[in-house]
Amino acid sequence: MQKFADYNFTGKRVLVRVDFNVPFDKSDSFITDNSRIAKSVPTIQHIASHGGRVVLLSHMGRPKGKVDPKLSLGRIVQTVAALVGKHVNFCDDCIGEKAVEATKKLQNGEILLLENVRFHAEDEGKVKQKEGESDADYQVRKQAMKDAQLAFAAQLAECGDCFVNDAFGAAHRAHASTSFIASYFPNDKMFGLLMEAELEALSHVVEHPQHPLLAIMGGAKVSDKILLIENLLERVDKLIIGGGMTYTFVRAMGGHTGNSLCEEDRLDVARSILEKAKAKGVELLLPVDAVNADKFDPEAQCCSSPVDATPDGWMGLDIGKESRKLFHSKIMESKTILWNGPMGVFEMKPFSEGTFAVAEALADATANGAYTLVGGGDSVAALKVAGCENRVSYVSTGGGAMLEYLEGKKLPGVEAILH
Ligand code: AMP
Repeated sequence: MQKFADYNFTGKRVLVRVDFNVPFDKSDSFITDNSRIAKSVPTIQHIASHGGRVVLLSHMGRPKGKVDPKLSLGRIVQTVAALVGKHVNFCDDCIGEKAVEATKKLQNGEILLLENVRFHAEDEGKVKQKEGESDADYQVRKQAMKDAQLAFAAQLAECGDCFVNDAFGAAHRAHASTSFIASYFPNDKMFGLLMEAELEALSHVVEHPQHPLLAIMGGAKVSDKILLIENLLERVDKLIIGGGMTYTFVRAMGGHTGNSLCEEDRLDVARSILEKAKAKGVELLLPVDAVNADKFDPEAQCCSSPVDATPDGWMGLDIGKESRKLFHSKIMESKTILWNGPMGVFEMKPFSEGTFAVAEALADATANGAYTLVGGGDSVAALKVAGCENRVSYVSTGGGAMLEYLEGKKLPGVEAILH
C-alpha cells in the first residue's frame, strides 16, 4: 500500500473509486444533497494539481446490471465540474476500448468521469439461488459469477496506472470496483483523503479513545443493531439507547409500553444485553420519560409519561424533557462520543426535539473538548437541520460501512488496499 500524500501522480492515469451515489428529489430532476461529491473534491484536486490524470469510477442507485438513463452519471458531470472547479469529461461506459481510449486521451491535470459501474452486473456480483435449483448448481453459478467479477475488475483496471479508493460509503461491499480491482495494482494502490479521514475518525473511537467513551444508539429496531450493541459493550464506558429500540428494553424489564414499537421476539436479546452491560460494568442508560402520541401522525394528540408507563392506546415517539437533560449531562461528562440513530420519529416535527437536543448536546461537548463522531443517514440529517453539522468533530459519509466497522467486521474495500 502507498501513502496518498507521498505518491507521485505525475503523468499517471489515476483510477479513483468514489462514492457519487447522490440522492435526487422526488421529481427526480435535481440533486438534493451533493455532499458525497463534495467530500471527495480534495482527493480529486490533489491528484489533478500534482500532474495526475484523474479517472473517476462510481456507482449510483441500483440499476441491477442494466443501463438505465435515469441512473447515468452523465447527469452529475456538471455538478462534479462545478465542485471541483475544472472541466470534467464523460465516457458512457466504464470498461472496453472506448473507456480505455478516453483515459489515454487525458492530459496531466485533466478529469474523466466513467459511466455508472453498476450498469454491469459483475460489479456487485449478486447471485440468488433460484426456486428448485440444487445447491450444487447454485455453487457453480456463484463461482462463475466470481470469475466474471475478477475479469470485470481486470477490465476496469485497464483504465488506470494506479488505484485510489476514496469510496468509504461502499467500503463494506465486496464488489469488483471496491475490492477485487485493488489486486491489479499490488504496488500502486492507496486510500484517498476522504477514506483516510474516515478511518482516522473511527480509530479515534475504536483504537485509542479517550475515556469516558459514550455510544448513543437510536433508531427503530433492536434486531438491526444487536451485533453493533454487543460489540460496543466491549469498548464503551456508557451506552445510551433511545428511539424505537427503547421499548423492547423497557418491556424486557417489565415496563408498560402501550402501542409503542416493541419487538416481542427480541425480549431475550434485550435482557441479555442488559445483563452483559452489568457484567462488563457499562452504564446502560434508557430514556426516563417520553413524548407519546395517540397515532403515528404529525397531527396526533400528544402526552408525556414515564417511559415505562405508556398509557394504553398511546405510543412513545420521542424522548421526554427529563431524558434530554439526563442525556445532556452524560454527554457532557464524556471525552469520546459516538452517535448513530435518532432518538425519536424526528421526521415529524412534534417528535423531533429529542433528536435535536442530542445534536445540540454533541456540539456543546465538542466545544468542551470532547471528540464526537456522528454517522448514519438519519443522525447526519438531524445534525444538519439542527445546524450542528460543523460543530462536531467528524461526520461520517458512510453509515453502513461505519456500522459494519463498529460491529467488528473487516471492510472489503479497506482490506483490499491494506493487503
Ligand atoms: P434506523 O434506520 O434503525 O436507524 O431507524 C431510523 C428510524 O427510526 C427513523 O425513521 C425514525 O423515525 C424511527 N424511530 C425513532 N424512534 C422511534 C420510535 N420511538 N417509534 C417508532 N419509530 C422510531
